[in-house]
Amino acid sequence: MNKKEALAKLAKQIRKDKKCPLSKTAKNAVPGEGAANAEIMFIGVAPGKMEDITGRPFVGRAGKFLTKLMKQIGLKREDVFITSVEKFFPPDNRPPKPKEINACMPYLMQQLRIINPKIVVLLGKVAEKMKSEPILKNKKVIATAHPSAGMRFPKIGAKIKRDFQKLKALL
Ligand code: URA
Repeated sequence: MNKKEALAKLAKQIRKDKKCPLSKTAKNAVPGEGAANAEIMFIGVAPGKMEDITGRPFVGRAGKFLTKLMKQIGLKREDVFITSVEKFFPPDNRPPKPKEINACMPYLMQQLRIINPKIVVLLGKVAEKMKSEPILKNKKVIATAHPSAGMRFPKIGAKIKRDFQKLKALL
C-alpha cells in the first residue's frame, strides 16, 4: 500500500470512528487533506463549524487566513498536509476535552507515521502540547499561535507572520 492509499484507508476509518465522544454529535469527520508525500504538515486544534459541514480542514475564516499566510511564503495547500489534533467538531466551538483529544490522537500519530514530514507546524495551544512527542523528535517543529487568534489580534497575527518567515527559511 502506498502513502496515498494508507491515508485514504485511515480517513475511512476516522469517518467510521465511534471512540471519540464528539463523533456522535459531529456532522462530518475532518481527517485532513493534502499531499501524501508532503514535507510539511500543519496541525491545528479542532474543526470549526465550516469544517464540520464540509468535512474539510481549515476552510472557514481561520482557514482562509492560514491559506493566505501560506501563499505569502510560496506554499500551496495542495503541496502540504493540513489536519488538526481533534478530528470532530466540538459543539459551540469549545476547546476539545482531554478524553476527546486522547481518542483522536492515535489517528494523528498514524498520519504522522504515514506522511513522515520533515517539518511540522503546530497551530495553537492544544497542538503545541505535542511538541515533546517522541514522533516529532527528528523533525523540525515550529509552534505558533492559532490563525483564528492571529486573525482577531494584530499582535498575534504579526507573531504568526514572523514564525512563517522562520518556516520559509527552512524550505
Ligand atoms: N481550526 C482548526 O484547528 N482546525 C480546523 O480545521 C479549522 C479551524
